[in-house]
Amino acid sequence: MRKTYLVTGGAGFIGSNFVLYMLEKYKDVRIINVDKLTYAGNIKNLDSVADDERHVFMQADICDTDAIRKLFQDYDIDYVVNFAAESHVDRSIQDPEVFAQTNVVGTVNLLNAAKESWGLSKRSFDNRRFLQVSTDEVYGSLPLDDPECFFQESTPLDPRSPYSASKAAADLFVKSYGDTYGLPINITRCSNNYGPYQFPEKLIPLIINNAVHHRALPVYGDGLNVRDWLYVEDHCRAIDMVLRKGKIGEIYNIGGHNERNNLTIVRAIVRELETVLQDSEINDSLISYVEDRKGHGRRYGIDPKKIKTDLEWYPETSFEDGIVRTIAWYLAHEDWLESVTSGAYREYYSKMYEHH
Ligand code: NAD
Repeated sequence: MRKTYLVTGGAGFIGSNFVLYMLEKYKDVRIINVDKLTYAGNIKNLDSVADDERHVFMQADICDTDAIRKLFQDYDIDYVVNFAAESHVDRSIQDPEVFAQTNVVGTVNLLNAAKESWGLSKRSFDNRRFLQVSTDEVYGSLPLDDPECFFQESTPLDPRSPYSASKAAADLFVKSYGDTYGLPINITRCSNNYGPYQFPEKLIPLIINNAVHHRALPVYGDGLNVRDWLYVEDHCRAIDMVLRKGKIGEIYNIGGHNERNNLTIVRAIVRELETVLQDSEINDSLISYVEDRKGHGRRYGIDPKKIKTDLEWYPETSFEDGIVRTIAWYLAHEDWLESVTSGAYREYYSKMYEHH
């Protein structure tokens, strides 16, 4: 039977990849895609499904109680997948309030709408799911000198930025709606994603975009902060598996066992671009160390054992393949990069990096 998904934030980086992935993989789905289209949302990401009647796009704010309630009345929603968020740590340091609003209040608004609408229906909570897309950043930071230490689902929450604090708060609300009202929930906590359609304020697309234009490649602090990197399609597949096979109420960590420091990532991009474009001006001398981010977590390392064992998910894309595919995508989509880096992006970029 056809399932209806309410996907929020589906014009952003991971959300649009998820929408495209699901429409490609399943014939019989309907996706109601709700996105406010902030600076990070881009309707162009969905151009290839513009005429697909299985996809309904609606511009709305997840904090808008009436709009969200109406959506639940208009459509019999089986699954909610909540990607909508303010997602950039640096912006959260400059302007925390909007993170509290969208990430926390918006999530509570969605939870309420699901609880009320599903609760009133005959089917109630049967075969429904509310999946909160969260991040490994809620666990805090690990030391660099103990590579055997990982975040597990049971690791205490210790967020260190306004962004991760807002995501942790949202996770706790989601969990509480499961515990208190019996809402069928899951929370997934994923490591850093990379791939097509990522806004170039994030490390990988930022470095690609700057390198092709021979601009300085800003690297925070000593460049040795470590993150686990996962190709976005592997994340989308994990979310689909949790919706279909995950146990109600469970939290699943998602990660690639692919930890690298920022400098290694930047150098890998430089090498690949230099080779592909045969441009010797793209080299390590473009690297420019900038003042470290406040509260910058040293190492985030995720243990994805549970999702591997329970759901048989594993990352299919190696970093070596993923980064080549990603770079090829950005090189083939210069118009996309151009459109998202005009206007407001320039102002933001200059505020962040050009005073250094
Ligand atoms: P993104 O910033 O690219 O996209 C966020 C989307 O949400 C945008 O389309 C934006 O327009 C929309 N949005 C923002 N505020 C909204 C609101 N009030 N109402 C409706 N829509 C709104 O983010 P992303 O990188 O795709 O991340 C998606 C989710 O995954 C986030 O919840 C993030 O916390 C989580 N996550 C991201 C990563 C990563 O590496 N990017 C890793 C783990 C978890």
